[in-house]
Amino acid sequence: ESVFAGVVRAPEDPILGVTVAYNKDPNPNKLNLGVGAYRTEEGKPLVLNVVRRAEQMLVNDPSRVKEYLPIIGLADFNKLSAKLIFGADSPAIKENRVTTVQCLSGTGSLRVGGEFLARHYHERTIYVPSPTWGNHLKVFAIAGLSVKTYRYYNPETRGLDFQGLLEDLSAAPSGAIILLHACAHNPTGVDPTVEQWEQIRQLMRSKALLPFFDSAYQGFASGSLDTDAQSVRMFVSDGGECLAAQSYAKNMGLYGERVGALSIVCKTSDIASRVESQLKLVIRPMYSNPPIHGASIVAAILKDSQLYNEWTQELKAMADRIISMRQQLFDALQARGTPGDWSHIIKQIGMFTFTGLNAKQVAFMTQEYHIYMTSDGRISMAGLSSQTVPLLADAIHAAVS
Ligand code: PMP
Repeated sequence: ESVFAGVVRAPEDPILGVTVAYNKDPNPNKLNLGVGAYRTEEGKPLVLNVVRRAEQMLVNDPSRVKEYLPIIGLADFNKLSAKLIFGADSPAIKENRVTTVQCLSGTGSLRVGGEFLARHYHERTIYVPSPTWGNHLKVFAIAGLSVKTYRYYNPETRGLDFQGLLEDLSAAPSGAIILLHACAHNPTGVDPTVEQWEQIRQLMRSKALLPFFDSAYQGFASGSLDTDAQSVRMFVSDGGECLAAQSYAKNMGLYGERVGALSIVCKTSDIASRVESQLKLVIRPMYSNPPIHGASIVAAILKDSQLYNEWTQELKAMADRIISMRQQLFDALQARGTPGDWSHIIKQIGMFTFTGLNAKQVAFMTQEYHIYMTSDGRISMAGLSSQTVPLLADAIHAAVS
């Protein structure tokens, strides 16, 4: 008898489980629109040219060793990551009141930030949008925070429930932590406008709510690194404090390298340095120190103006392809006369379209068309190509007709 005989089987992860089911399907025309990873027109994973070049440089540099990084990671990477999200001329950086630590991609950055807050911040409740990326709920709960939601998406308009959002943030206790998607909200693809961000900022500052930005798609949404960081920069330029978790999974295609950063913007450089000392105490017993390879790639690209420019071009090409998939899918549904208003497909931004299809319709599309997606009707536009758009449009048409 095994000592583990009492272990019960856990359910598959709702997002990664889609790929598990997809892999089991023998149909040659099956299509995986579940997981958020970029694919080329040919349906292949993409390693950016600039990443290959940076890796070559690293491999050919004999001075590179495999020693441990410091607990907070690669110093160059941290500095350059802060510059990337807050802007090269950010006063907070100039005044040395930002601490940035390298973490295990976006997820690890959220987890370290969450645990720091649970230990050192006076208000232990974090509000996340409803809906949000499913892992937020688990990451923050396990970090020791109490997780609540604020209204975000209105299924009727398939847009932002701005009134509900303002009401819920107004009703939150003073000091509460508010998780904000910096851009390309996952899963809805619905972002506030700049004017709405400004209202959110004013409300949050007046109630001393603490912003925690999740930036998993900088540059990947609009094609511009600056545009996609605008929300974060609005909150930093008012001189207030905030946290930001960055991921290089999507915008550099470094998914499996697990490279990201957590920044905490503080009021003074002395506070920032004390905060950093405590972040080390969070990280050390969790994984000791972060991996060196991915951060070295990112640092090599960010510090070299030629590589940086090449990156921005490749990044824009990925964003543009996704945007053109939106248009193609919309046009294909129009051409079929599919019932309903599908304009949200071209209004939403980022990797995902929140189709509005229900779990039953999703199940139908998987069963009849071998198209895989999460049961909330979220489809990854990055997994779509000109060749597969007609199949998806046929499936949606059949599902709603
Ligand atoms: N936040 C959001 C909103 C995301 O969509 C993702 C990726 N799916 C992440 C964080 C983290 O991803 P990673 O840990 O791979 O950087």
